[in-house]
Amino acid sequence: MNMDWSFCEALATTNVGIIKLFLHIYDINCQYCIHFLERIAHSELMNIPDDIKIAHAIGLFHIHGHKDECLYRYATSYVPGAGIVDGEILEALWSVLNTVSASTRTASLAHRTEVLDDHMNDSNWKKMLNIGNHLTIHYIDVELTCTS
Ligand SMILES: [Zn+2]
Repeated sequence: MNMDWSFCEALATTNVGIIKLFLHIYDINCQYCIHFLERIAHSELMNIPDDIKIAHAIGLFHIHGHKDECLYRYATSYVPGAGIVDGEILEALWSVLNTVSASTRTASLAHRTEVLDDHMNDSNWKKMLNIGNHLTIHYIDVELTCTS
């Protein structure tokens, strides 16, 4: 229910307007997406525009913990149009948080939470500052891939 709500709100609030094809990457999508559209259809609070298509995928870190058939159905490598994407976000932050977590081992729960939260906010801030360069680099990669 929370994932359904988050997904619908992301579609409704991120000005995706003309985009009609979405790649939804989630760690357990092979199970999650089975009744996804039914849940949305039966909900009074959630909505997905009728004219969009959703491709469900599983990130490349998590796909190897699934059955073999999940690999070919849901790995981003095999989803047409997905390009080259690992589909993982949080796991990339572990290396940074591992460095910080040692210093919070003896901290109180509140202090530990604040320190980790500060580092996550710092990571988000840096992503926001660099998103233009990031998208430009990936756009160039996509153009090169499509033309070769
Ligand atoms: Zn699976």
